[in-house]
Amino acid sequence: MIKILAIDDNKDNLIVLQALLSDAFPDSKILSVQSGAEGILVALTENPDVILLDLVMPGMDGFETCRKLKQDNFLRRIPVIILTAAKTETASRIKALKLGAEAFLGKPIDESELAAQVSSMVRIKKSEDTVRLENLRLEEVVKERTIDLLKELEERKRTEAELKKSYEELDLSKRATLNLLEDLKLEMDQRHRVQSELILAKEKAEASDRLKTAFMNNISHEVRTPLNGILGFGELIIAPDLTEEDKELYFRILQSSSNRLLKTISDYMEISLIVSGNMEVCPSLFQPDDLLDGIFESFYPHAKAKNLEMIVSKTENAKGFILHSDPELISKLIINLVDNAIKYSDHGTIEIGYLTLPGVVQFFVRDNGIGISEDKQVQIFEYFMREDETHTRKFEGSGLGLSIAKGLVELLGGKIWVESEKGVGSTFWFTVPRI
Ligand code: ADP
Repeated sequence: MIKILAIDDNKDNLIVLQALLSDAFPDSKILSVQSGAEGILVALTENPDVILLDLVMPGMDGFETCRKLKQDNFLRRIPVIILTAAKTETASRIKALKLGAEAFLGKPIDESELAAQVSSMVRIKKSEDTVRLENLRLEEVVKERTIDLLKELEERKRTEAELKKSYEELDLSKRATLNLLEDLKLEMDQRHRVQSELILAKEKAEASDRLKTAFMNNISHEVRTPLNGILGFGELIIAPDLTEEDKELYFRILQSSSNRLLKTISDYMEISLIVSGNMEVCPSLFQPDDLLDGIFESFYPHAKAKNLEMIVSKTENAKGFILHSDPELISKLIINLVDNAIKYSDHGTIEIGYLTLPGVVQFFVRDNGIGISEDKQVQIFEYFMREDETHTRKFEGSGLGLSIAKGLVELLGGKIWVESEKGVGSTFWFTVPRI
């Protein structure tokens, strides 16, 4: 159903209009009023689909009515068709169009033109209404969505703030945990250090305990034998009826027993210093050639006394070579080895020398003595270890010389080993790091 409002001061015109419209739109409601003011009121209450407006009216004319209609927010969307006798009067039409009128109908009114104009206006209004409604709906949707988004944004902000707070808390507890771990690590390190120190101290204590036991087991023989000699021959030497020859013999025995006792005690003291970690290393610059020459000079008479040759072997490219290490400890080491070489040889040559190799200097003491069987070549470096028990009777010795040598080499940061063949001879090698 459509609603049409007709505004015309002329009652007859309204009647004609009503008749024409009822014909054209049987299913319509026609509202007729005779003044602009009344028209506006009816339009506000009835909300017609189209307004037919006469231009020439007393009081508020069609222009004024149109202006008012188009000024009103609610009414402006109702299409206005101006009814004018002056269909061809351009100025009035332009004025009405400027005020917002949508169409014109000339008087006398043509029925089919009226029907066509009203239909098209109603159609336009309907589609405009649809668009407007759609717009309203969209606005509503946008509004709702905006509210939702704002809510979501608020929620997000809140979550973010909570997240930030829990991150900060996490960070704090992480830092606390890290501090705790750091403390724990420090404590563990401290414990490890103490533990290692304890282990080292325990090992040292065990080593010196082993040494003590070994010493107690060996001391009886190595101390008592020379001591018995000293005491026995000490008494004999004061006997009144001794020949000069006997006296000389007893004196020599006294002297060698004293030396043997002295050697045993000094060996024991030396090994005690090494085992307890009290042996000091004092490095300095020295020429190994000079050191070997000194040893040669002091041992040459002993070698000669046993009919042994003795030589210092010098390689041409090592001439004048300077080493940075402890000359006193190296000297002690070589002396121990030369001592043994002379002791365990009855013919041949004692050769001492060294090689300069990458990173190390390798000293050696070579002899053509009794040699050492392969299975004993490692054991002989342990305390009181001798190759064979028959040695004890045949050769004097504490069994400490090589363990002292091994201890000294290790203090200097080197290694010691022997190459030997029974009945052919032995070469003792040891290395010292060179810088
Ligand atoms: P000691 O000579 O007092 O017995 P060492 O510790 O000096 O003690 O030597 C241990 C053992 O190694 C000796 O008893 C001996 O059997 C063997 N030995 C050491 N040097 C030589 C050598 N140059 N030739 C043969 N045997 C040796």
